Amino acid sequence: MNCPLCEKPSLVEVVGITSVPVFCNVLYGTEAEARAATLGDIDLRFCPSCGLLVNTAFDESLLDYSPEYDNSLHFSPRFREFVGGLVRHLVEDRGISHGTVVEIGSGSGDFLSLLCEAGDNVGIGYDPSHDPHRAPPIASDRVTVRAEPYPVDRPVDALLVCSQHVLEHLHDPSALEVLRGVRSSLSPGDGTLQYHEVPDATYMVETGAIWDLIYEHVSYFAEPTMRAMVEAAGFEVIDSGRSFGDQYLWVEAVTGAQNTAAGFPAVDLGRLPTLVEEFGRRHRSTMELWDQRLSAMLAEGEVVVWGAGSKGVSFLNQMSGASEIGRLVDVNPRKRGRHVPGTGQVIVAPADLVDSPPTHVIVMNPLYTDEVSAMLAELGVGSTVHAMG
Ligand SMILES: [Zn+2]
Repeated sequence: MNCPLCEKPSLVEVVGITSVPVFCNVLYGTEAEARAATLGDIDLRFCPSCGLLVNTAFDESLLDYSPEYDNSLHFSPRFREFVGGLVRHLVEDRGISHGTVVEIGSGSGDFLSLLCEAGDNVGIGYDPSHDPHRAPPIASDRVTVRAEPYPVDRPVDALLVCSQHVLEHLHDPSALEVLRGVRSSLSPGDGTLQYHEVPDATYMVETGAIWDLIYEHVSYFAEPTMRAMVEAAGFEVIDSGRSFGDQYLWVEAVTGAQNTAAGFPAVDLGRLPTLVEEFGRRHRSTMELWDQRLSAMLAEGEVVVWGAGSKGVSFLNQMSGASEIGRLVDVNPRKRGRHVPGTGQVIVAPADLVDSPPTHVIVMNPLYTDEVSAMLAELGVGSTVHAMG
């Protein structure tokens, strides 16, 4: 099987997981519906040439963007602080102001509206999965969300084309094809800034973040791979780095005077192949470790998981002992009373823990541990807080 990105042969097997929910962010109204959610397999493989990690068992026909899809992170103060910093950087350091900004996969337009307010911009979001009747676009006269793909067939005049956590979902068209389409819609030398952000594959393999392996992500990009892909689409990369506690990877690029694409460039992967090999081994050992820790916690009383996002849903679906966990906690009020795909647990609000405090709370994203501890203290809930990872 050839690499779907650089087209070189010899993909290496890394991790295999069977029967995970194809959508970690679709929650269900009843336990029965949740348990009947569509499941798929993950066969994660690594390309030793370009560094791509790809789920070769990915089957797009299993995916059906449901109206209940809700992966908005904008309820967390930690996340809002991160986005605020990013908006300031784009407006103040990159001069994204008094013009048009375009976002691929904009959802309801939360990020666009912040960019528009801070930089006096006008925003256009393209998102084929957006259903305006179910999730109304953000109330802003500066932002338009269109439920259609980015227009590769006509000229686009914008200061910025950006995406956050979109490229890793794309299969057909692929992320490279979409970026090439963006390049073809722009005029040579117009200077339009590209800002594209994905989960960082290096962070995932370095820290053994096995709960970040989810069906919705067909591809996982490390920094050299992401830079090479953006170059192969015909852009000039001007900067790249990690953010949000190193969990995210971003690349900034510009439309150069010439289309610079000349096949897929050679990629220096550094330590990545070694880290990926270790990740495969750590996947198994982490599962065993948390199996033991979870049994010990359950012997002492109720265990709840904090975070009904993809990490929490992965944890519940991959750990056999997790069937004894009855509740997940989430700060997003829209998730309250809904159920986890696959395993069926109910989601409660933090305040719901007051009447029946659990003995242990497992926080899926260690970045939120302080936030969670503070919230529990304020509610007078004396559970022991454990950070995943
Ligand atoms: Zn490759």
